[in-house]
Amino acid sequence: SRSVHQIQSGQVIVDLCSVVKELVENSLDAGATSIEVRFKTHGLGLIEVQDNGTGISPTNYENVALKHYTSKLSTYEDLSSLQTFGFRGEALSSLCALSDVHIVTAQADQAPKAVRLEFEVSGKLKKTQVVAGQRGTTASVENLFCKLPVRRRELERNIKREYGKVLGLLHAYACISTGVRFSVKNTVAKTKNVVVFATKANPTTKENIANIYGAKTLLALIALDLDLEFEHSATGKRRDQDVTKIHVSGHISRPVFGEGRQTPDRQLFFVNSRPCGLPQISKAFNEVYKSFNVTQSPFIFADFQMDTSAYDVNVSPDKRTVLLHNSGPLIESLKLSL
Ligand code: ADP
Ligand code: MG
Repeated sequence: SRSVHQIQSGQVIVDLCSVVKELVENSLDAGATSIEVRFKTHGLGLIEVQDNGTGISPTNYENVALKHYTSKLSTYEDLSSLQTFGFRGEALSSLCALSDVHIVTAQADQAPKAVRLEFEVSGKLKKTQVVAGQRGTTASVENLFCKLPVRRRELERNIKREYGKVLGLLHAYACISTGVRFSVKNTVAKTKNVVVFATKANPTTKENIANIYGAKTLLALIALDLDLEFEHSATGKRRDQDVTKIHVSGHISRPVFGEGRQTPDRQLFFVNSRPCGLPQISKAFNEVYKSFNVTQSPFIFADFQMDTSAYDVNVSPDKRTVLLHNSGPLIESLKLSL
């Protein structure tokens, strides 16, 4: 029924961050080199993501917002070698159940014509209309959670904090996505579009960091380049020893000892280039800096490259929670290397 679909959708799209994450990942999956994210009143009014990616094929208009429709997974075996962010086909369908969604999309051979798609709450295609538009896709989400009043009130109450979290997430995508131009804008009341931050299509993460955090932050950074290797007992079997190899790359702020000089307290973590929160890892970094009498938490941009068997991303539908296996030895090894 409709209400069951809405409750399930509320578990995929839990907050403002999930909306932005799903839309930006769809743009990256579509091979975009330019992504613009626009908010009205911090996302309460509108969340809109425009990209210059492949666009949606006309043969998929009917399907894109249907539950479990995905164009990204053809066989079950694909799951283990997945290169795209999406594969569940739940994002657009959930967004339709929770808010007012429309999409304008064009593939290369359609431009300068595009098609505007409107959907019913069920995700069924309601209306198509030919409009002007360049290659790419613009997904617009209005009145988030308007169909779940309690959740809507909660969002309104916490909007400033939610918006802050969203900017942190967008910083992470913008930093890691070399070769992709990001632009984030927010309009409040009658003000013009205010550019919150923007990156160029830079070839390096360093330049992305400079665009977002400024040249001063960049000057304070040193390269992070660690090879972690540790043994642990294989799950269940005591006698077998497995070796886990992890490469950590990125940038951290130079340790500045004692009081006085400030380093920005900003920490971006990735597993295999996917943004994710890693509170235990953050704690390990902070403890090492503290043990050297550095009072400020370091700036960290750290990408942990590891075998996909070393962690689990699919523990939650929003895929934001990453469960690291053997985090104990991993943290010990990280602290030692640092
Ligand atoms: P998933 O990403 O898991 O496949 P979604 O619900 O996020 O599921 O999207 C459904 C489908 O809509 C995608 O598989 C893709 O075919 C299409 N799609 C969504 N957003 C875009 C986009 N920005 N550009 C091109 N295609 C898109
Ligand atoms: Mg998706």
